[in-house]
Amino acid sequence: MSPRPGSPTRRPGASAAPHPPGAAAVRRAHRLLEKAFGPLDPPRRLDPLEELILTVLSQNTSDVNRDRAYASLMDRFSSWEEVVEADPGDVAEAIRPGGLANTKAPRIQAILRAIEEREGRLDLGFLHRMSDEEVRDHLMGLPGVGPKTAACVLAFSLERPALPVDTHVLRVARRLGYVGSKTGADAAHEAMAHLVPAEIRVSMHVGLIRLGRAVCKPGRPRCEECPLQGLCPTAPFVLSGAWRAGSERRRSG
Ligand code: SF4
Repeated sequence: MSPRPGSPTRRPGASAAPHPPGAAAVRRAHRLLEKAFGPLDPPRRLDPLEELILTVLSQNTSDVNRDRAYASLMDRFSSWEEVVEADPGDVAEAIRPGGLANTKAPRIQAILRAIEEREGRLDLGFLHRMSDEEVRDHLMGLPGVGPKTAACVLAFSLERPALPVDTHVLRVARRLGYVGSKTGADAAHEAMAHLVPAEIRVSMHVGLIRLGRAVCKPGRPRCEECPLQGLCPTAPFVLSGAWRAGSERRRSG
């Protein structure tokens, strides 16, 4: 793709309150992502409790290492009850392949303990009968569970219209002007829920992650090969050479 003609008229994401596109433009971006990457199917469907623990394990690591940590945890312990009662060091040892094991192990045990105390058993199957809002509130009442983890359970386990905002989604959403350059991940969940139509929320999450990993990377984005180039306010800056490494970080303060 060649650079778009004309000079950039607005610094990308320069305002903390951008003018986000309408639903039609978001749908167009979704179609372009689907054309570029193929079907944007979510990666898995697990039981809600499994999904919750898998999401905790996914923090600050790759999908491969997260899956290795989860498989190792399942090999080491035969039930969630065993995980709760285990020595924290043994849980940390089991999930070591996923990184940050000494932080994640007590977090996982605290979550399981809270569920057991609340429900009398280690099972989140009842979430299927709750509204999206009730599920979100319930999960975010657990220790260390924030909007992203709750959205992962909603989207991937319960098949609800949620859009988890991880580091890739946040970076791409800021560059696309979907959220402000200073919008944090928690606030971005709310903004993206308003912006992205419900029926494409989960697949949009998948598409933005793929774009963020392959094209709209940290550092200089590869706008010249991006399927969303024509819709993106950041592209003219990058393609004209006005974008400098670190400028984005400085702009976002
Ligand atoms: S055009 Fe560039 S900045 Fe915009 S989404 Fe694509 S890679 Fe990212």
